[in-house]
Amino acid sequence: MTIAIVGAGLGGLALARVLHVHGLESVVYEREASRDARGQGGMLDIHSGQRALREAGLMDGFHAIARGAGQDMRLLEPDGTLLLQEDTPDDAPLLRPEVDRADLRDLLLDSLPDGTVRWGHAVTSAGDGSLHFADGGSAPYGLLVGADGANSRVRPLLTDARPTHTGHDVVELCISDIDRRHPELAAMVGRGTYWVMGDGLSLAAQRNGDGRVRVGVSFYNTREDWFATSGIPWDDAAAARKRLIELLPGWDARFVALIAASDDTVVSRSITTLPAGLTWPSAPDVTLVGDAAHLMPPVGEGANMALLDGALLGLALAAHPLDFPAAVREYEREMFERTSAAARMSGRMQEMLSSPGAAEKLLAFFQPG
Ligand SMILES: Cc1cc2nc3c(=O)[nH]c(=O)nc-3n(C[C@H](O)[C@H](O)[C@H](O)COP(=O)(O)OP(=O)(O)OC[C@H]3O[C@@H](n4cnc5c(N)ncnc54)[C@H](O)[C@@H]3O)c2cc1C
Repeated sequence: MTIAIVGAGLGGLALARVLHVHGLESVVYEREASRDARGQGGMLDIHSGQRALREAGLMDGFHAIARGAGQDMRLLEPDGTLLLQEDTPDDAPLLRPEVDRADLRDLLLDSLPDGTVRWGHAVTSAGDGSLHFADGGSAPYGLLVGADGANSRVRPLLTDARPTHTGHDVVELCISDIDRRHPELAAMVGRGTYWVMGDGLSLAAQRNGDGRVRVGVSFYNTREDWFATSGIPWDDAAAARKRLIELLPGWDARFVALIAASDDTVVSRSITTLPAGLTWPSAPDVTLVGDAAHLMPPVGEGANMALLDGALLGLALAAHPLDFPAAVREYEREMFERTSAAARMSGRMQEMLSSPGAAEKLLAFFQPG
């Protein structure tokens, strides 16, 4: 029976890899033209998802790309007050190391037989055993797995649920080659995450493995039309930086300097989620993994859940090679319970970040008692 996976993100690739380890082959259809077609974004902290990499037989490769020092954290208030500084000792266990998303995706891609991923295959619709692509082609499936992220084309086969805006918008910036171009800012950000928490807005700067620091300025309690009404001229980077700085009145000059030093790419991301605890009646020939199943606020769980979904679905299918519907039911039972707990926890965290006094609350979260 052909196992067709839509989407070569972390969830889809973890599934394909675990199936391969257990002697089951699959085909992954990915809309991007190649693995380098699009920048893969920043760092991920990988904790519970390490189990998936163990099941995939990729722990050595993971340790080669994981950055323990990326666990360092500094938490500040907009006036410059340092609330918390955590530096990771060199011999600390890799409980939540940071890994470059592109490195992790490459690790998974390189572990699959040639031809497993069919690049340039954008799925437009699916059903009744057939996948249809944007170029007019089609392909059959016996079992279809939607691993196609937030705006999944496979999800409508199982549920009418759609992602909705959470009242959180992020403006993403990047400072390339920071050690050479802005050594003082590089030292200030340090090896991990540098987090400035205000009321209703925050700035997070994070060191990447490739000499860049990515900066995200978050606006909370926003309306759906924030992108248009923020007054940020998105097509003029210099003017957009200037407007962003205006939106942080009274912030310490060092934080403003991070925005002023950033490159000419200013990108906005509207944060959407699916309802926490979403389920659907099991179908014998379709299921979902990752964001397609449980898009949640980006507070460090989504990639871990996607990896686990892929690995655990792979294990269930390998355990029931002659009864895929039973494997899907078994996988979904566990997945619904695990990911609804993660989504609820992420929702509470998101609420805390968007509420008054967020800096103090976050400090209490990291230093209970
Ligand atoms: C700013 C930010 C920071 C984050 N940081 C963290 C973190 O530190 N830790 C953490 O655990 N999580 C984090 N997350 C969440 C995490 O990135 C996602 O949960 C995770 O990437 C989901 O993986 P996925 O495989 O389900 O989907 P994706 O990674 O979105 O992959 C989906 C794939 O499907 C492809 N695709 C989409 N539509 C189609 C189609 N129609 N046909 C064919 N292919 C298609 C896409 O091109 C893509 O390759 C963060 C998210 C954001 C936005």
